[in-house]
Amino acid sequence: MSRPTVAIIGRPNVGKSTLFNRLVGKRLALVDDQPGVTRDRREGDADLLGVPFRIIDTAGFEDEDPASLPGRMRVQTEAAVREADVALFMIDARAGITPLDEEVARWLRSSGTPIVLLANKAEGRAAEPGIHEAMALGLGDPVPFSAEHGEGIGDLFEALLPFIDREEEAEDDPDEEGPLKLAVVGRPNAGKSTLINRMIGQDRLITGPEAGITRDSIAIDYEWEDFEGNMRPIRLIDTAGMRKRAKVQEKLESMSVVDALRAIDFAEVVVLLLDATRGLEVQDLKIADKVLQEGRALVIALNKWDVAENASSLFNGVKGALDEGLAQVKGVPLLTVSAATGKGLDTLLKVAFETREAWSRRITTGQLNRWFERAIEANPPPAPGGKRIKPRYVTQAKTRPPSFILFGTRVDLLPKSYERYLVNSMRKEFDFGAVPVRLTMRPSKNPFDRE
Ligand code: GDP
Repeated sequence: MSRPTVAIIGRPNVGKSTLFNRLVGKRLALVDDQPGVTRDRREGDADLLGVPFRIIDTAGFEDEDPASLPGRMRVQTEAAVREADVALFMIDARAGITPLDEEVARWLRSSGTPIVLLANKAEGRAAEPGIHEAMALGLGDPVPFSAEHGEGIGDLFEALLPFIDREEEAEDDPDEEGPLKLAVVGRPNAGKSTLINRMIGQDRLITGPEAGITRDSIAIDYEWEDFEGNMRPIRLIDTAGMRKRAKVQEKLESMSVVDALRAIDFAEVVVLLLDATRGLEVQDLKIADKVLQEGRALVIALNKWDVAENASSLFNGVKGALDEGLAQVKGVPLLTVSAATGKGLDTLLKVAFETREAWSRRITTGQLNRWFERAIEANPPPAPGGKRIKPRYVTQAKTRPPSFILFGTRVDLLPKSYERYLVNSMRKEFDFGAVPVRLTMRPSKNPFDRE
């Protein structure tokens, strides 16, 4: 199925190219862009808050003879609009409506293609008269926007969504099939080096008290045979090696926290290794919290299980302390392992892969909003001070970690408890487990939206 197409229409200098560049972002480099060639249109793969579409920019009239402009523009506009699912008609709110704008509006109305009217350069008071003039074009209420300042993206998204959300099946994240980037962090002597050596099946890391061993690489690539017999590539991040490389004698409160922070930059999944003979310490919670704050997937493993005493009460104690101590999420996976014997390591890696899968999961806008309707029906948002909060859409802006944006009127006033309700409900519905899930509120800025 081809992607939905949006055509940006408007007279020269209203800001079409700025918007085009914003929506296409760094992928612009892939657009066929030959200097010296006059182009009447540019096309690109765009993305608005996580929803992908194709975009056509009918620029290229900028140095046109004003006398021939309407004719040339009309040909281009009509061609672009024919291909498009929706026409984004852009006017300059500061300049107001010109006769050419009125003419373009007439062509667009007769085209039968849905039109979203975008009043650009809408930042500040100077734009207000232009926005009101635009209402007289007969194309519905204009969406106030500022391509330059990046304001009004949420309102633009809301206006376009009905035309661009094709309910495509969620695409698999291309990165997901790459090697699992895994870091093992924890306090000194938790058994990190022993664990890594056991995983890779050789003594690559020196364990014990010897210091100053240099290694060439901070990443160790190897393959793990999973329970189905498939070879799964893993890239282990060796944080101790990184520390030696950095050659910095950080006098920070704790080396293990510093190591964890470094690992976070590289890793998709972070394994926090605890020493079962010592239990959970404040330092461990600090590291765990940091990993989650940075949006990484976290798995916790209790090591030296071979010599653990009172195993079940120890396990339950640590589990309880984790759920209490980690403000952000409950239920972070807690496993028991023995780096010395190798017991539990396969399960640890299996859980690490599953956790990455949840962390990379993309939910379609359709699925999200079906969940969303049920969620707000089951527990309607409060009305602080009698003001009605009206949430409208949710979209997934990105994965790794899964990050969502909630649009609607006054959604910035939603209490934290309601945000938590939504996040937890989403967690259950889409099986995110204990990976960090982000939800950002995007209140509508549209002054015509007075509910
Ligand atoms: P690191 O500082 O976290 O890298 O810890 P090491 O891997 O150097 O291990 C510290 C000490 O704990 C060493 O003496 C290891 O032999 C020991 N150790 C590591 N894992 C286990 C385990 O699963 N069981 C037992 N009994 N000892 C372990």
